[in-house]
Amino acid sequence: LDGVVKRFPVRDALGRRAGAVHAVDGVSLSVAQGETLAIVGESGCGKSTLGRLMMNLITPDAGSVRFAGEDLVRLSPAAMRARRRDMQLIFQDPFASLDPRMTVEQAVAEPLRLHRIVPRGEERARVADLLSRVGLRPELARRWPHEFSGGQRQRIAIARALASQPRLIVGDEPVSALDVSVQAQVVNLLSDLIRDLGLTFVLISHDLGVVRHVADRVAVMYLGRIVEQGPAEEVLTAPKHPYTRALLAAVPGHGVKAPPIEGDVPSPIAPPPGCRFHTRCPFAEAQCRIIQPELTGAPHAVACLLDGRLPPVRPRPERLAG
Ligand code: SF4
Ligand code: MG
Repeated sequence: LDGVVKRFPVRDALGRRAGAVHAVDGVSLSVAQGETLAIVGESGCGKSTLGRLMMNLITPDAGSVRFAGEDLVRLSPAAMRARRRDMQLIFQDPFASLDPRMTVEQAVAEPLRLHRIVPRGEERARVADLLSRVGLRPELARRWPHEFSGGQRQRIAIARALASQPRLIVGDEPVSALDVSVQAQVVNLLSDLIRDLGLTFVLISHDLGVVRHVADRVAVMYLGRIVEQGPAEEVLTAPKHPYTRALLAAVPGHGVKAPPIEGDVPSPIAPPPGCRFHTRCPFAEAQCRIIQPELTGAPHAVACLLDGRLPPVRPRPERLAG
């Protein structure tokens, strides 16, 4: 993605245009083949919109989206349909993503047929193979989605996503709707499959615990912009942005200390001027309200006027007893 901007118009009660949600505001990002990139941030920061822009499911207002050197926005509809085979999206809600009127076999076979992956006579065997890859017994192929648990449904959705032999998988919160007890199993399955098959993976998640296990690189989003990105190990152990540091400090047992972030995420309809985080940043100074910091540094980049030189965290002064 290069300089990608996406805004959604907002209308008032009379249907008049009343501003726009600045969902994605000037994001440049790349993912190398075979890499797992995690995009993290609180809900409403624009990460799902970013995932849909990557897949060319929505069109950017500005900037370009390239896949394997090809500008997706400029492809003809027919060329884009052929490209769809290479990129698959796994949604958060496995209950909504499977058609209740299709058996598991029909659901997994559909992309095989659509993209002519195997001759018709081999479909059943390929479905059985895909189901066993995701840890489901092939005998389950004749059953209906409602007969499965959330975790099993997400396994079926993964089998369906793998059926077209994609090169890129984008998972938008792929485990956050599942019971906590099965989240790790499903995310480990997904990342093992992706590694074994040599696929590129973009994991969109608000859960740093999930991200820590699978990501090679991490990009942190706040109000439509990337505020920090770099190798996962560095970003997650030595964060440079106050926002990343606060997110990490909120993960139990992480060991990163930071003052908690106060207040809510400001409205994306009227994002704050200057650094968008200044309304919540414990280190904000006057200039932070005026200057919008650029993302700088490689491979570990940060968009903050302090450029990673964060003051040490002191314990809050205890009130004296009595
Ligand atoms: Fe905080 Fe200022 Fe850095 Fe923004 S630029 S994160 S307000 S210190
Ligand atoms: Mg989302």
